[in-house]
Amino acid sequence: MPESAEEYAARIAAAQDADGRLRLDPDGVLAWDVFPFEAEGLRVKPGPVLVDEEPPRRGEEASDCHCTEVVMGGPAATGDWAALWEGMGWRVKLAPPSGSPLVLVAEPLEHLDVDALTDDLAAALGRLQVALVGAVEALPSVARCHVLRIGDGGAHAHVWFVARPARMPQLRGSFMVVWDDLLPPVPAAVGDANAAFVVERLVRRLGGRPVTALA
Ligand SMILES: [Zn+2]
Repeated sequence: MPESAEEYAARIAAAQDADGRLRLDPDGVLAWDVFPFEAEGLRVKPGPVLVDEEPPRRGEEASDCHCTEVVMGGPAATGDWAALWEGMGWRVKLAPPSGSPLVLVAEPLEHLDVDALTDDLAAALGRLQVALVGAVEALPSVARCHVLRIGDGGAHAHVWFVARPARMPQLRGSFMVVWDDLLPPVPAAVGDANAAFVVERLVRRLGGRPVTALA
């Protein structure tokens, strides 16, 4: 019998101090060479605490989802999410400029949560994922394309593709999503050129169609 949320939370609570804080192990994450911060002065925020129910995500109802207002053909320079490519029931979107050379999101055209994806859409996601990783990793400024399904923000299924800059070993691993916020934003024209490079390869490998004209 898997343990309950209360049992899990009780074990966490037993490890917290009187302020509700967990101890920061100096030999733990602080010692990783990819950890972005200096240890001095850092402490763990109080928590986590068990709440009565999961907070709702955006788009639990389709009418409240961003997919009802997708920016078609919007330039990245506006800061909006621009739809880049569509095919096999999926859409690839370009995130607003950030520190990574390229951040993309793939989502089904239809309003579906992950567990509602048909087998055909799931199979297409596998092909899209492989093609996107290959295309992003072919960018000259990129070594790796991280693939993340997090899903806490929006109920509409979405998978993140985060490019990790080449030859910067400090940016390796899961902290790249933090470094993405710390690094200076890539200029919109650079992000657009990187996105165009990826879309061209995507069309060549998978077909589908570009939906935004990029420089
Ligand atoms: Zn949706």
